[in-house]
Amino acid sequence: MALDAASLPSIEAQVSPEEWQTRIELAAFYRLIPKHGMDDLVGTHISARVPGHPDQFLINPYGVLFDEITASSLIKVNMEGDVLSDGPWPVNAAGFTIHSAVLSGRPDVMCTAHTHTIAGMAVSSVEGGLTPLTQKHMRFYKNLASHPYEGIADDADECARLQRDLAGHDAMLLENHGLLTCGPTIRAAWALLYNLEKCCQTQLAVEATGAELVVPSEELCDRTRGMFQRMLAKPGAGDRLDAWESSLRLLAREDDSFMH
Ligand SMILES: [Zn+2]
Repeated sequence: MALDAASLPSIEAQVSPEEWQTRIELAAFYRLIPKHGMDDLVGTHISARVPGHPDQFLINPYGVLFDEITASSLIKVNMEGDVLSDGPWPVNAAGFTIHSAVLSGRPDVMCTAHTHTIAGMAVSSVEGGLTPLTQKHMRFYKNLASHPYEGIADDADECARLQRDLAGHDAMLLENHGLLTCGPTIRAAWALLYNLEKCCQTQLAVEATGAELVVPSEELCDRTRGMFQRMLAKPGAGDRLDAWESSLRLLAREDDSFMH
């Protein structure tokens, strides 16, 4: 029988309080993925930089379902790919390539998330990618990077091209592959991923009607994106919208093992 991540002893006493808090929030992010139907068995990955150690990050134990991941079972690696924590699970090679590329290329980024949802894979595989259809789409209008498919991302050379294509954006379509978001906090990367996923699902639903699309004008899309950016730049605005604390309480009520 395979090892159960939830039965691992807690490593809280072995890490800094800041790293422990990051581990709890990252484990919560993993738990929210299947809760919102965004998981792909053990595929895909989310990473968070270790506080005080910008050259180290935490990532999932490869082979464990996301709803089993705990703060203690997360694996710590450095940008060279050395595993710095004890544990029975390896790191996904493609996960290391993608996350080390984003985190080493963007010092402002604390967390990076990647999914293979049906909607995300579908939209990443159509010419033009995301169409600006609804209000929710506008925050991504001319604000969504795109990275051409190169095969399974186990080639270190792809890191430079991932960094180039992401540039200053916090959300990206990995063409023929899926979605990627990042942010200065774990909750920011979560909120962006949740909203991008909803946009992709909406695009598929709208296109499935077969009806002619009503696409707002470029001027209106530009203006609405600016409104989003000004609104989210206000102190605390993003923190009210993402329902992060409520989501953590919800997880804890149902199964608080992610905190251990
Ligand atoms: Zn992937």
